[in-house]
Amino acid sequence: MAGSGEQLAEWLSAYNHDEITIGVVASHSALQILHGARAEGFRTLGIAVGEGRRKMFKAFPGAEPDEWLMLDDYKQMLDKADWFRERNVIIIPHGSLVEYLGADNFIDLQVPTFGNRRILKWESGRDTQREWLEMGGCTMPKTIDDPHDIDGPVIVKYAGAKGGRGYFVARNFRDFRRNVDLEEDFTIQEYILGTRYYMQFFYDPICDDGYQVEGMMSREGQEIGRLELLTIDRRDEANVDEFYKLGSLRDLRDMGLEPSFVVTGNAEVVLRESLLPEAFRLGEGAVASSLELEEGARGMIGPFCLEAIVTDKLEFRVFEVSARIVAGSNVSIGGSPYMNINEDNMSVGRRIARCIKKAAEKNRLQEILS
Ligand code: AMP
Repeated sequence: MAGSGEQLAEWLSAYNHDEITIGVVASHSALQILHGARAEGFRTLGIAVGEGRRKMFKAFPGAEPDEWLMLDDYKQMLDKADWFRERNVIIIPHGSLVEYLGADNFIDLQVPTFGNRRILKWESGRDTQREWLEMGGCTMPKTIDDPHDIDGPVIVKYAGAKGGRGYFVARNFRDFRRNVDLEEDFTIQEYILGTRYYMQFFYDPICDDGYQVEGMMSREGQEIGRLELLTIDRRDEANVDEFYKLGSLRDLRDMGLEPSFVVTGNAEVVLRESLLPEAFRLGEGAVASSLELEEGARGMIGPFCLEAIVTDKLEFRVFEVSARIVAGSNVSIGGSPYMNINEDNMSVGRRIARCIKKAAEKNRLQEILS
C-alpha cells in the first residue's frame, strides 16, 4: 500500500529535507495552504486543470505557487508520482483532491502526503464514522432504519452527496416517500434542533507540550502529542438558512419548496467559553479512538473537524467528522480568535506547513506523513 512505513521511508530517504516543496490541488483550501507554506519558507507547487484556476491565483500574489503543474485531468497525478518525488513534493490532501482522484486512487498515490491517508477509509463510511466517534465518547444523532418508524423531524442524507445536495427534512413517512430518491443510498437521521459548530482541531504528534491526549504515549512511555483548537466556522447553506423568511414550512410546501442544504460559504464563529472543555473532550476522544480503529492504526494526524450541533440543553451532538483540513477553515486565513491567542497570522494551512517544518528539522517526517 502507498505511504506504508517501509515505502514512505524509502521515498523520504531520497528526499532533500532542505528543499521540500508543498504541493496542493488549487481548489478547496489551497489559498491558505500555499500562503501558509510560503510563510514557513517552503517552495510551493499548484496543481490545476483549466486556466481559470491559475488566473484566479493572480488575484492573490501572496498565495501564488512558485510552480504550476497544469493537467488535463486530475487523475494524471497518479502517473506523475516520479516527477513529484524528484522535486521533493509533499502533497497536502483536501476534500477536492480526494473527490477528484477518488478515495482509492488517493490512497494509492505514490507520493508522500501529509497526515494518515488510511483514516479516510473510516471517514468516508457513515457506519465506520459512527463506530469511530462513539468509541471516542461522542453522542451522535440516532439513525432510523425503517422509514415507517419516522415519528418526528429527520434529515435524509444521500451517500457521497457533495455539500449536502439533495438532503431533505421529513416529519413522517408521507414526507419521506414524497421526497426520497430510492435509486440512491440514504441514511435517515434524527433532526437535531440547535446551533451548528464546525470545529477544526489539529493533532500534532511531534509536540509534547500543551493539551495532551490521554493515552497517547511514545515507545519510551512519555506522553506525546498536542491537541489544538484552531478555528470554528458555520456553513452557509442554501436554502435552509433563509427559508424562514418566506413563511412556515407549510406555506413553503404550498409553494412547492423544500429546504435544501447546499453549502455556499462559511462564517467564523466562537463557542460559548464554558463549552470549550467539552469540545476538547470530544476532540481528545476522537484522536484517542482513532488509534483503536484497526490493528496497528496510526490514528489521526494533523487537522480534523468535528461537525456538531449544540442543543438548548447545551449538549453536543456530533453528526460528522472530516479527517483533514476543511474548507470552512478558509474563514481564518489571517488567524482566528483561537489561533490569535497563541500566534498572529496563523492559519490551518500554515499550521500544517509548521508541522512539516518542525518534523523535517527533527528528522521525524515519517511520523506525520503517509
Ligand atoms: P453533512 O453532510 O452530514 O455534513 O450535513 C450537511 C448539513 O445538514 C449540515 O451542515 C447541517 O446543516 C445539516 N445536518 C446534518 N445532520 C443533521 C442533523 N442530524 N440534524 C440537523 N441538521 C443536520
